[in-house]
Amino acid sequence: QKFVYDFTEGNKDLKDLLGGKGANLAEMTNLGLPVPPGFTITTEACKVYLASGSEPTALRDEVTAHLDALEARMGKKLGQADDPLLVSVRSGAKFSMPGMMDTVLNIGLSDESVTGLAAQAGDERFAWDSYRRLIQMFGKTVLGVDGELFEDVLDEAKRAKGVTTDVDLDAADLRVLVDEFKGIVAKETGRDFPQEPREQMDLAIRAVFDSWNGERAKLYRRQERIPGDLGTAVNICSMVFGNLGPDSGTGVAFTRDPASGHQGVYGDYLQNAQGEDVVAGIRNTVPLADLERIDKAAYDQLISIMETLETHYRDLCDIEFTIERGKLWMLQTRIGKRTAGAAFRIATQLVDQGLIDEAEALQRVTGAQLAQLMFPRFDEKAKTELLGRGIAASPGAAVGKAVFDSYTAVKWSRSGEKVILIRRETNPDDLNGMIAAEGILTSRGGKTSHAAVVARGMGKTCVCGAEELEVDTKRRRMTAPGGVVIEEGDVVSIDGSTGKVYLGEVPVVPSPVVEYFEGRMHAGADDADELVQAVHRVMAYADRMRRLRVRANADNAEDASRARRFGAQGIGLCRTEHMFLGERREMVERLILADTDAERDDALGALLPLQKADFVELFEAMDGLPVTVRLLDPPLHEFLPDITELSVRVALAEAREDANENDLRLLQAVHKLHEQNPMLGLRGVRLGLVIPGLFAMQVRAIAEAAAERKNAKGDPRAEIMIPLVGTVQELEIVREEADQVIAEVEAATGTSLKLTIGTMIELPRAALTAGQIAEAAQFFSFGTNDLTQTVWGFSRDDVEASFFTAYLEKGIFGVSPFETIDRDGVGSLVRSAVQAGRATRPDLKLGVCGEHGGDPESVHFFHEVGLDYVSCSPFRIPVARLEAGRAAA
Ligand code: ADP
Ligand code: MG
Ligand code: MG
Repeated sequence: QKFVYDFTEGNKDLKDLLGGKGANLAEMTNLGLPVPPGFTITTEACKVYLASGSEPTALRDEVTAHLDALEARMGKKLGQADDPLLVSVRSGAKFSMPGMMDTVLNIGLSDESVTGLAAQAGDERFAWDSYRRLIQMFGKTVLGVDGELFEDVLDEAKRAKGVTTDVDLDAADLRVLVDEFKGIVAKETGRDFPQEPREQMDLAIRAVFDSWNGERAKLYRRQERIPGDLGTAVNICSMVFGNLGPDSGTGVAFTRDPASGHQGVYGDYLQNAQGEDVVAGIRNTVPLADLERIDKAAYDQLISIMETLETHYRDLCDIEFTIERGKLWMLQTRIGKRTAGAAFRIATQLVDQGLIDEAEALQRVTGAQLAQLMFPRFDEKAKTELLGRGIAASPGAAVGKAVFDSYTAVKWSRSGEKVILIRRETNPDDLNGMIAAEGILTSRGGKTSHAAVVARGMGKTCVCGAEELEVDTKRRRMTAPGGVVIEEGDVVSIDGSTGKVYLGEVPVVPSPVVEYFEGRMHAGADDADELVQAVHRVMAYADRMRRLRVRANADNAEDASRARRFGAQGIGLCRTEHMFLGERREMVERLILADTDAERDDALGALLPLQKADFVELFEAMDGLPVTVRLLDPPLHEFLPDITELSVRVALAEAREDANENDLRLLQAVHKLHEQNPMLGLRGVRLGLVIPGLFAMQVRAIAEAAAERKNAKGDPRAEIMIPLVGTVQELEIVREEADQVIAEVEAATGTSLKLTIGTMIELPRAALTAGQIAEAAQFFSFGTNDLTQTVWGFSRDDVEASFFTAYLEKGIFGVSPFETIDRDGVGSLVRSAVQAGRATRPDLKLGVCGEHGGDPESVHFFHEVGLDYVSCSPFRIPVARLEAGRAAA
């Protein structure tokens, strides 16, 4: 096994082995770009070290061999007294990770070689500046000395001299600093700063390995779901110097604007400085464009390299470079991060440039980015006062009065106030408050904290972990860093897409992307429209590419119309229970209380025309597209008064001796229907089997509505769906009755309706016997919400707010199985049911309704297992379309 790769040996596809930085340094080297020579120690070496506690035995020799080759090439030895080769030791994992060890520059300098370096460069100051940087960085990151100790001494030196920047310190000053820094190291670590260059290098390598398991790195990996066993690579790179005077410098650049995607010159440059100075903000950088004036030749070369990189990586890259006495060196490149809007723009720009095709453009954007673009946002032009920032946990823009407990949140929101619930962190007791609030703000906790998880689940705006904001729930106030105090009732605005928290009301504007989907905005020329144009084009790529059709979950004509505008190709789930609420509840009560056939028929007869009218509207809104209507599913007690409330009412009435007959009967019925576990009780197909006439009435309403639309020259395409089937016998009985009703309606209206009848697959037994069930079903729709509940054996309403946070923290789930389909468990049932169903009935239509239908990850799964369509809430349709396209691309 080979543990060390020269930069000439690797390439960009070896990120697993060489880390991102190493793989791209190798790629640039092989492109012929000016990269200082060096080599990379693999992640495999790191893994061995982490597992066994010591470096693999072969590593030392391999490093020696590569160092020898490097020295031969550079014509000087590491730390050589009269002309030292210096190197940087740089960490570089597959994914960049805050909390990993920082880079140590100038390794190889010592009391001896510092004079050699000065002589070679003809610059005393430079040599001592480099040496003090080494001791400072090495002391802090390798030896674990508190960095502030060095900073304080440095500040003191500047103050003593009456200057403000370190460039104003001369060689003599820096020499004194070096002595003081060495003193700090000796005092803090009990040993002298290591003078032996190879020892410096080996210690730094080991420190990089160790930093993989630092607390901050571990926490970050957990939050970002990065596996804990990848390990990090270590890059040894010969030093180039940006701190050699005004004709030297260092900078960072993007090959195009990461915010808009526009091509141009974006970056920062700092003269006479070493790399870390740019990021640290020690001195003011100048815009990269100024480099043209400072050093035209280097600037032109840089621009041409950026073009090379863009064409080669076929994407936006960010880079780090250094200029040493007029010579340009490339020190890093990677595919650059970008905003959601820029991702869409860049994808289409690259298509226009002929660099990528439509399929690849789809891989450059995500459904999550599209979702982000669909949230309303704060008006960019508005004046704002920033209070602080936290983690962008759940996107959106929320404005409301600050409240510090759930009780107040609920109370105020009931009286029509908009509130932002502010807590240190939330727990299950805060659930009601979270529901009542416009948004949630916490000062503790990360992306998997209770607040973040629950808010995302509810689609509610959330900023969490805003540590700089001090929340005092007892005194109902929050204090911002500047000392601004927010009392209960003060208005705040929170941005769940950026994590920013503002004082007062920031005006909210609708997303131009939603305006576009709604048909209220068309492509044009100004800036917002440029984004719309890009989204429009990418959606077209997706629609051309995808195999999955996308339908909507919609219960009324209004939702159906919106869904259609958003691109729905039908309704995958129309829940009829929503048609039984409001004023109609009373009729359902009558149905439930009916003692005689006549009473029952009466009640059903009253419901029939109302149901029918609903369907007529719905079929009209979805004319020409399939509409799957699910027969009544929820337990009946949901239509009756609450048992406790009713009991109290009856008891009070009885005490007054004026109990009313109807209430008494109702109470009896409520008792009879009361269930310990309604989710597993009398519901779904079971209702149809035990309440005579109920399903027949619904089927008649559907059939008559379809016939009416037909006669009005419409094109209704209704599909009747039976919920909660566990065995084919249930379905057969219901079907027989339904077929008969349909035949009656066809005969009476003189139409041929071509209604299909199918079932939900939402119980494990249904999935396991899908082959049998397909004999009686013309389609399956996987109800993955209930299937997840029944496969895992937990009820969503009860568990999400209680122990899911603990599960997420412990890493049992990466994400809630209600959010993203559990491929291994629930998913494998879906997969086998698809196969069994199709084996019985090759033309079986297969879909999914349930939240997963709009979840990006899950959409890919449904594509893989070969479903015909996914169905999701209207608002998620664009995301589902995009992801279906990405899955097929
Ligand atoms: P990070 O991942 O934190 O950016 P890097 O390894 O890229 O860490 O290095 C930190 C800074 O030091 C960067 O500005 C980088 O360009 C600079 N740097 C790293 N290696 C060298 C080198 N061999 N010569 C000059 N500057 C370097
Ligand atoms: Mg870097
Ligand atoms: Mg269900």
